[in-house]
Amino acid sequence: MRATVMYSAGDVQIENVPDPQIIEPTDAVIRVSRACVCGSDLWPYQKMERSETGRVMGHEAIGVVEDVGAEVRRIKRGDFVIMPFAFSDGTCVFCHDGLQTSCIHGGFFGTTEVAGAQAEAVRIPLADGTLFALGTHADDILLASLLTLSDVMGTGHHAAIMAKVTPGKSAAVVGDGAVGLCGVIAAKRLGAEQIIILGRHADRIALAKDFGATDVVSERGDAAIERVHELTGGFGVHSVLECVGLEQAIDTAIGIARPGGAVGRVGVPQEQTIPGSEPAFYNNVTVGGGPAPVRAYIEDLLPDVLEGKIEPGRVFDRTVDLDGVPDGYRAMNDRKAIKVMVNP
Ligand SMILES: [Zn+2]
Repeated sequence: MRATVMYSAGDVQIENVPDPQIIEPTDAVIRVSRACVCGSDLWPYQKMERSETGRVMGHEAIGVVEDVGAEVRRIKRGDFVIMPFAFSDGTCVFCHDGLQTSCIHGGFFGTTEVAGAQAEAVRIPLADGTLFALGTHADDILLASLLTLSDVMGTGHHAAIMAKVTPGKSAAVVGDGAVGLCGVIAAKRLGAEQIIILGRHADRIALAKDFGATDVVSERGDAAIERVHELTGGFGVHSVLECVGLEQAIDTAIGIARPGGAVGRVGVPQEQTIPGSEPAFYNNVTVGGGPAPVRAYIEDLLPDVLEGKIEPGRVFDRTVDLDGVPDGYRAMNDRKAIKVMVNP
């Protein structure tokens, strides 16, 4: 089959690789209906050291189950499924707590150990715990929104949960990428009254407003912190969704939280330390977050997607086939596309 292999920063190739096979009896293999390129794929795209074997990329997909191992009970051939970006057994103590990204037998797709989904097919470890089977197949518009439940919509929702978004209160979203935009949807869905988006790309800001953002802050650093305070009676916001991961973004996020507020971090951190220790301490700001247990959130978010109450699929502004994936990476890295869908 054909798959997307990254060898080093900027070096993404489409290659023939061996077809995925059932290795463990708990595995499944799915044929990929749609996959996509994630903002977090851009970190290796910018930084990855050269690898001789490369890495089959992609951790977001929806697809149709082609084969299942002998011990797979719940998932069946022909099921139309969502593949969350982490695999999980669904039975351990952390899975029971709804924190599948900490599953004691789990792991992540698109790593050097487990091949990713920017491909024609993908092997799914622990299929019964990992996959979410949908009742029916879907039209193209719905496909895009269902695909976001494998990562970005669930991740935006996690940021909102960790930031303790509360009806009638204020929220700010740091970052206007696909996760930030889904964070706006999540904040609105959870009832935030004022939603401030911090970003500076016109197309993304327009979408953020459509999704429910009430205010836009395009400044950065101290100027952004000052502007958010102006918009919130001088106090800052109750909830901050940090959807970037860079030091300055986290610093800004903590700087705009009001005393007693909370920051939900879902941007993959690019530094070993968290900035803003002093303001976080003196303002009693809770800083939480991490890899979103999107598997736990699908059940909650799916009805709103199916009823069209939320349309997170609108974050996709470009669709490519496998041959177009290297261009898709380039477009996202150059901020010429918000998020690229792959139709293999
Ligand atoms: Zn588990």
